[in-house]
Amino acid sequence: GQALKQHALGIVARLNEAGFEAYFVGGCVRDELLGRPVKDYDIATSARPEQVEALFQRTVPTGLQHGTVTVVVHRQPFEVTTFRKEGDYSDYRRPHSVEYIDSLHEDLQRRDFTMNAMAMDLNGRLIDPFGGQADLERGILRCVGSAQERFSEDALRMLRCIRFAAEYGLKPESGTWLALLGAAPLLRHIAMERIRAELERMLTGSDPSGAMLLLKDCRLLAHTKEKLCWARLDEIDSVGELDLRKLTRLEDRLAYLYLKLGAGQGDYDTDMRKLTFAKKQIEEVGRIVEANAWLMHELAAYTVRDAGEPSHEARELWVEAALRYGIDGLQTLRTIYKLDRNIRHAAGTDTVTHPIFTEWIRHGEAWLAEMPVARLRDLAVTGQEVLEALQGKAGPWTGKLLQALLRQAALGSLPNRKEALIQAARELYGEMQEKG
Ligand code: ATP
Ligand code: MG
Repeated sequence: GQALKQHALGIVARLNEAGFEAYFVGGCVRDELLGRPVKDYDIATSARPEQVEALFQRTVPTGLQHGTVTVVVHRQPFEVTTFRKEGDYSDYRRPHSVEYIDSLHEDLQRRDFTMNAMAMDLNGRLIDPFGGQADLERGILRCVGSAQERFSEDALRMLRCIRFAAEYGLKPESGTWLALLGAAPLLRHIAMERIRAELERMLTGSDPSGAMLLLKDCRLLAHTKEKLCWARLDEIDSVGELDLRKLTRLEDRLAYLYLKLGAGQGDYDTDMRKLTFAKKQIEEVGRIVEANAWLMHELAAYTVRDAGEPSHEARELWVEAALRYGIDGLQTLRTIYKLDRNIRHAAGTDTVTHPIFTEWIRHGEAWLAEMPVARLRDLAVTGQEVLEALQGKAGPWTGKLLQALLRQAALGSLPNRKEALIQAARELYGEMQEKG
């Protein structure tokens, strides 16, 4: 942290020595004032990009079209951007053109929120023309200038507003919030990918449920270019109280939300594709959502029994689900069940009160921990060895037989030892042939 700041100060000093104005701007100033760790020190300067390039040994022309040169010092990249103002915004996202200017003040004026529109010079003097510090002290998030204009220039700012409000525990100032409500339909101009990036940051930030509550209140996600399940956020009761932070990974939090949104098999998948989530992320969410759908479907087939000892059926179903959807996904699902008994599922049952369900919550973790095998490759026998022992020809039956062995071994009703497995394979093979 300190080393990073020293390098950044070195860049500001070098620019100053060459006769240019240079300041820290944006997030680093805000985070320093708040005593938060600073991720990156961005620098704004009166020097033109080619002048910046001439002053430093290692530079990368990262964003020359908007005046940004990356200066590399001790392998650390720093973005140095020429003071600029932005031309008209014609597409609700990016300005048509940018124009270099000589005034820091004007540069700060184009920024989104007062707390992001502060600068600091080499000596640590704060330049804060829009009252960002006072707003932070009062716990307020406010647009620079006319909120209505700012949101209609760049509709992404509405999502940033919600992300920053939740992340920093700020209340959007009433004018800013009203403008957001009015501009919400403009969200359709924002690429789905950008929406995903903001959602990811909200969900991995310091107050994911706070962010969801704000999203619910303004109904912003009803206005995405492609329709999402997230448009139904307002149907989730007490969304602000969801214990999302009890789940560590982003995918687990997403799965929980999709379950709350009643997104069945397929729905979460279509949604996540629209949002351009990675294939692996979709699969991980899928394992949890699909395991829930499968379990609920199976559950519906069981009549309610007296609650008592952990029932055999409960354990069998649970282990079977682990074999189908993986142990990790099921562990997450159990955590979700523990947090929230109101998981909706495709079949439409809202509250799960079934005794078997209670057993899963009570014993599910132990059952998974006790599973001696979870995948075919954990079996102490290979398909080849089974084929040789039975002197049979490989066919669809081989896979079925191995799955049956795996199921018994996973439940502990068959020891995971070669001889025992082969013996069981013989018996199963016999039964299968009898049945044809
Ligand atoms: P963090 O990186 O922690 O999200 P940040 O404030 O550094 O916060 P960035 O997205 O990195 O945010 O942008 C850096 C600065 O650029 C912001 O502080 C803000 O002044 C300005 N900025 C970024 N995006 C926008 C935007 N869409 N509209 C107006 N100003 C913006
Ligand atoms: Mg930043």
